[in-house]
Amino acid sequence: MPTIRQSIDHWRAAFAAAGVDSPRLTIELLLAHVLGLERGALLGMGEHELTPVQSAQLEALCARRARREPLAYLLGYWEFWGRRFAVRPGVLIPRPETEGVIALAKKLLPPDTRGWAVDIGCGSGVLAVTLALEFKQLRVLALDLHSMPLQVTAENARAHGVASRLWMARMDGLAAMPPVPLFDLIVSNPPYVTPEDYPGLQPEVLDHEPQAALVGGKAGLELPSRLLAQIARIAKPGALVLMEHGMEQGAALREAAQRAGLKDIRTEEDYAGLDRILVARA
Ligand code: GLN
Repeated sequence: MPTIRQSIDHWRAAFAAAGVDSPRLTIELLLAHVLGLERGALLGMGEHELTPVQSAQLEALCARRARREPLAYLLGYWEFWGRRFAVRPGVLIPRPETEGVIALAKKLLPPDTRGWAVDIGCGSGVLAVTLALEFKQLRVLALDLHSMPLQVTAENARAHGVASRLWMARMDGLAAMPPVPLFDLIVSNPPYVTPEDYPGLQPEVLDHEPQAALVGGKAGLELPSRLLAQIARIAKPGALVLMEHGMEQGAALREAAQRAGLKDIRTEEDYAGLDRILVARA
């Protein structure tokens, strides 16, 4: 059976040849996963031989990764805001730029904020669950149009111990909510990719992640703009609105927010210095 060192050498080269990002990190994470260890524990284990079962498992996972299945789906989890969340096909894999929504909520709201938050299009539930964890008094409603995201969100809420403050509903945006001012915080990472950009996304995204979580209609703005109108109708006066968007959509969404009647509208940049999050007050 191959040793850890041999597996790393072999798959690092195979991943690089297949155009996989971060080949060394990828094989280390998959090896650690198969061996049931933290990645750091592999250090100094180079001559350790895999068992036949481990070798077969590693081979199968690596072959799938080389065919550009996303690493997060192969592992079954991904990190967000320093915590581990279950992910699987049918929910978008959490992106680091989405952590900006949490960073802004924490910057703009006191930790003992009470009342209700809503996450529109919750996917794996990273925003909803992280808000419930960071704001211990807050109740959170997680909405999604599809059932798989609600299942994964429920699983993540239970795993992180916040299921008693997190509710879920299957809904298209906020369309089915009664027009009662309920929410103090509204967050969303809606689909915002343009139909023109979508076919050019990398194979991991295009072939494996849910298109419904990515494509936002005309110019990628149709869904986000519709949501802003719904949000304005149902947020409590003064409620904080945080919506992720594409790097070229800042101005268009500020306008949409203005039209919807939101106030104190501005755009925040992501770690890369690109326009990424609309910030407004109801
Ligand atoms: N940032 C994501 C991507 O381009 C898009 C996420 C979204 O549409 N909400 O991969």
